[in-house]
Amino acid sequence: MRQRLFSILLVAFWAGTYSVPAFGWGQKGHRIIAKIAYDNLTCKARKAVDKTLGEKGAIYWANWPDEIKSDTIYPDSYDWHFQDFDGGLSDSIVADALIHYPAEGGNMFRAIDSLVTVLKTGKGDVHTLRFVIHLSGDRYCPMHTARLEDKGGNKVKMKWFKEETRLHTVWDTHLIESQGYSYTEYAEKLELEYKNHKRTIMAMSEEELLLHNYHFTESIYAYQQTWDGNTYHYIYRWHIPMEEQLYIAGIRLAKLLNEIYK
Ligand SMILES: [Zn+2]
Repeated sequence: MRQRLFSILLVAFWAGTYSVPAFGWGQKGHRIIAKIAYDNLTCKARKAVDKTLGEKGAIYWANWPDEIKSDTIYPDSYDWHFQDFDGGLSDSIVADALIHYPAEGGNMFRAIDSLVTVLKTGKGDVHTLRFVIHLSGDRYCPMHTARLEDKGGNKVKMKWFKEETRLHTVWDTHLIESQGYSYTEYAEKLELEYKNHKRTIMAMSEEELLLHNYHFTESIYAYQQTWDGNTYHYIYRWHIPMEEQLYIAGIRLAKLLNEIYK
């Protein structure tokens, strides 16, 4: 399966063709991503991150932007966590969203670009960095680049074993929890399994990765139409592609922070 996934990535990278699916992560997902990123920072970037965030560090603060959604300090930040796309869009329309931010359906791309620009000028503060660490994880969660019509899978009901849930929650939380690892174990496992693909992921453009995510999300919706309702079948089909997204998110966050603090 790993072979299959990364062969898809490589095809996307070398030939500009894509065929994969993508939504935001729960607490464990964001910690896994932050740990993978932290493990892959340059010395300079690591010092800057540690200095800015203090002794609790990047992993501790990775979930803070979700926690403060109920606070009043950043009332507009709710829609920074997602960017919706309709189904069946052409690659050129999807890619265009990176430059011409869509007027509705989330503000994730605009938020990330603005926050990164602020950090690069040296004027960023501890909150700016916490948002960048978190949002650049959401960026690779398939239900955070999903459909406006169903609120990123939040309206798609599913049964997870005997529990009522939503497609969004399956991708934020249930698939990750189904594997039974701690965030540390999970990050270390993924870094070991995918280390030979790190350079490829580092080298991919934002456009290539966005199209990869978009097609990944589309394939999740397509599978939904044929799924037999068996939770084990769902886990078997999707846990490895989900892990690949976590690894991609971690490596791309490392790349971003290494660029900001070079
Ligand atoms: Zn989020």
